[in-house]
Amino acid sequence: MELGLKGRVAMVAAATRGLGRAAAEALAQEGASVYLCARTPHAMEVAKEIARATGSEVEGCVADVSTPMGRDIFWRKVTDRFGKADILITNAGGPPAGGFLDFEDGFWYEAFDLNFMSVVGLARHVIPGMKERGWGRIVTITSIAVKQPIDGLILSNAVRTGVVGLVKTLSKELASHGITVNNVCPGYTATERLEELSGAIAEKEGISQEEVKERWCSQIPAGRLGRPEELASLIAFLASEKSGYITGASIQVDGGFFAGLM
Ligand code: NAD
Repeated sequence: MELGLKGRVAMVAAATRGLGRAAAEALAQEGASVYLCARTPHAMEVAKEIARATGSEVEGCVADVSTPMGRDIFWRKVTDRFGKADILITNAGGPPAGGFLDFEDGFWYEAFDLNFMSVVGLARHVIPGMKERGWGRIVTITSIAVKQPIDGLILSNAVRTGVVGLVKTLSKELASHGITVNNVCPGYTATERLEELSGAIAEKEGISQEEVKERWCSQIPAGRLGRPEELASLIAFLASEKSGYITGASIQVDGGFFAGLM
């Protein structure tokens, strides 16, 4: 299927590894020009690697999307280089694991800045130009936790659901301007973050990392962890010409983990 991404410019947040990187790679493979960011200069190396592998124009910069300054820097870099952004993929690291009494207010505000304000701030930058051109795609990466809360991840469970409300509301506001806004919900996906998480749980419980992963897989009807590129394929489709009538949706990529109906 020709996705019609050639000539489009995509901003991909938090993309030196894992899901963000896979999204940047998928978009570049489809011919989009990509600008990615992360908090370290590794972003520039990763951009070069993706450019070499795909033949598309890919740039990278250092920007922390949890801060207004980081989002401003990212936006300025994108517009200086490409003059616009047709596609925005929001992403950031995950907040720390823990239960309700583990977190003072400061943690809640940090999680809000990281996983909610990063979406608000980046969307605010891209929307005016998308409206002017009458075309845009915004895809937020959240978590399966917005449909089915994950035990021990109270910050993620609580803060990310706000993104779903934002996406739905924005989608209605922007649909008549040719802009779609959708949310993707990864289930357990084999990234470095999940390696770190399984390592930490294994240490705490005195079991092996393999046992932790087996426990996760036993809850997934597909019987395995997801691959980052499986989420990225959906993101590329939602960012494309072909998905113009899909908006306001929250779609899980989770091997059947979500046990509800919708
Ligand atoms: P990861 O830790 O492997 O990668 C995160 C990327 O984001 C890295 O490139 C990191 O440098 C960058 N980053 C982190 N904070 C940033 C910030 N403030 N500003 C700019 N860049 C930043 O994580 P991942 O597994 O790819 O997950 C991505 C997101 O999806 C996370 O929020 C995670 O909680 C969520 N998620 C992951 C899974 C999973 O199974 N992997 C499942 C559900 C949700």
